[in-house]
Amino acid sequence: MVEQRTDGLDANSVWIREGDVRLEGQDCDARLMALRVGLRRHFGVRAVGAAAADEEVERALVALHGAGHLAALAAAGEEPAVMPELAPPGLEPDIPVNAALVAAAREAVRTAISAADRLLEGDRYAYAVCRPPGHHAGPDFIGGYCYLNNAAAAVQALREGGLAPVGVLDLDLHYPNGTSELVERMGGDATLHSLHAAPVTNVAAGTELPRAPRERAHAFAAAPDPTAYLAEVEASLAELAASSAALVVSLGYDTAEGDPHGSWHFGPEVFAGIGRLLAATELPVCVVQEGGYALEALAPCSHAFAAGLLGEDPV
Ligand SMILES: [Zn+2]
Repeated sequence: MVEQRTDGLDANSVWIREGDVRLEGQDCDARLMALRVGLRRHFGVRAVGAAAADEEVERALVALHGAGHLAALAAAGEEPAVMPELAPPGLEPDIPVNAALVAAAREAVRTAISAADRLLEGDRYAYAVCRPPGHHAGPDFIGGYCYLNNAAAAVQALREGGLAPVGVLDLDLHYPNGTSELVERMGGDATLHSLHAAPVTNVAAGTELPRAPRERAHAFAAAPDPTAYLAEVEASLAELAASSAALVVSLGYDTAEGDPHGSWHFGPEVFAGIGRLLAATELPVCVVQEGGYALEALAPCSHAFAAGLLGEDPV
C-alpha cells in the first residue's frame, strides 16, 4: 500500500454538478483514511509513503497533459472557480478548481507513480491509496472530481521503466473518458478495458463506445448480478493478460451498496472476487484508487479486495 502525502490543508472537493443539480462534494481525505484501515488489517500489507521525486511527477504530467491544462491548474487560486476551458469536449464543466485540490491531485499522481515504481522494483502488487480520482481527466480536460490522471501516470511510469505493454482495467462505476484518450495515445504500449454503468454521461452525446480501436467497453444497463459481473472481469483479464507484461487496475468502490454517486449494490465479497481473479493472472498488478464515496463501505471493501488478492479468508 502506497500512502498519499497530505499537507493538512483542506483539499476536500467542494461541489460537483450532476445534470442540472449541484451536489455537495463527496471526495475527501477521510476516504484515504478509511481505505487504509481496511488494507492495514492484513499482515501481508506493508505501508510505504509516496516516494516518487518531483522530477518524475513532472515528467509524467508533461507526457500526459497539455501545457495549457497544466498552466491553468497551476494558476488556480484559493477560491474555487469554474474553468470552462477545461471542460471535456462537448460537455459542461462539472467541478470547480482551487489550489488545494490541484495540490492534492499532484500528490495523487505521485502516489500512483510510486506504486508503479514498486512493480519496477520487483513487487508483485502495489495499491496507490490516492485521491482525488483521475480517470475522468484527459489530455486537456477535467471532470468528475478528476484533475490529473493517476492511472495513466502509473502506466507512463511502467512503460518508461520498461514494463510494457500494460493492460489497464477500469472497474469504477463510471466510464473512464480521460484514461481512454490517454491510453489511445500510448499506441501498442497500453490497452484499456472498462466495465461500467450505462447510460454513460461523461462523453459528448453521440459518442460511440468503445471510442478507440483496441479498447473494450462493457456497459451494464442495470445493477449487475455479482456472478455475471465477475464473469466479465474474468473475460477482460484473460484477454488483457495474454498481451500484457503488467496490469494497472483503476479500482472504484462506487459500485458498492449505498454509494452517494452510485446505484449498484455490491457487497465486499465482489471485491474479494476481483482480488482473486487478479491474483490468478500471475502478472504484476498496480491498483490505483478511483471512486467510492460511501465512507462506511470503504474499509470493508478494501479489506475484502486485499484478502482476495492475497489468498486470505475475507471474513
Ligand atoms: Zn466513479
